[in-house]
Amino acid sequence: MYGCPTIINNVETISVVPTILRRGAKWFASLGKPKNTGTKIFCISGNVNSPCNVEEEMGVKLKDLIEKHAGGVIGGWENLKAVIPGGSSMPLLPKEICENITMDFDALIENKSGLGTAGIVVINKDQDIIKCMARIARFYKHESCGQCTPCREGSGWMWRILERMSKGEASREEVEMLSDVTNQIEGHTICAFGEGSAWPVQGLLRHFKKEIIKRNNFNPLVKSNKNIPYLVDQHLLEEENAKS
Ligand code: SF4
Repeated sequence: MYGCPTIINNVETISVVPTILRRGAKWFASLGKPKNTGTKIFCISGNVNSPCNVEEEMGVKLKDLIEKHAGGVIGGWENLKAVIPGGSSMPLLPKEICENITMDFDALIENKSGLGTAGIVVINKDQDIIKCMARIARFYKHESCGQCTPCREGSGWMWRILERMSKGEASREEVEMLSDVTNQIEGHTICAFGEGSAWPVQGLLRHFKKEIIKRNNFNPLVKSNKNIPYLVDQHLLEEENAKS
């Protein structure tokens, strides 16, 4: 207004400028890892003892961030299930990857996730990981502006399928169908919100497919109604009846 700036788009970048001017660009670039230099503000939330915002060197180990700055995982490191490393739109990483991963652009991309907003969400084993992802999918479904069909319809499909999966009510085809829906959204929308809604679901399928399969019987007709032999494979029905 009146020829002066009225908005600060990136507080994180602007706040670091005085220190860079005082200590020099060379000093700032010496922090972190090659191609991933400087510092980053990490926001650590979820199942940690002391959620916090902390400025650290790029390339810091995720485990160090959680243990040194956020008071550790509730229930201890062994109680860790997964971490969303860059805000809810980034694919989650299971505990095995979290053991050694560093928090920088390249390391996270190599592990099929991303630094995103550096909003770290810690999920421990007390949580239901499928339900957590269903909740995130519900958020994206609600926030979609509706302009692009893949995002508008796909975000709702993902949410509904995940809700069923969390209750063990999904059908055999729905695991692959869910994966297809994410691929139909990714790269087919006007803005990056589409990817933001699809990537968390892809992360769940990549790392926790076995858990989804274990929870869902994949033969809902057989399980829910044994008196409809004309609708299901008779052999399967008999097998199922023999068990009960
Ligand atoms: S991708 Fe972006 S523009 Fe398209 S419907 Fe989703 S939020 Fe709207």
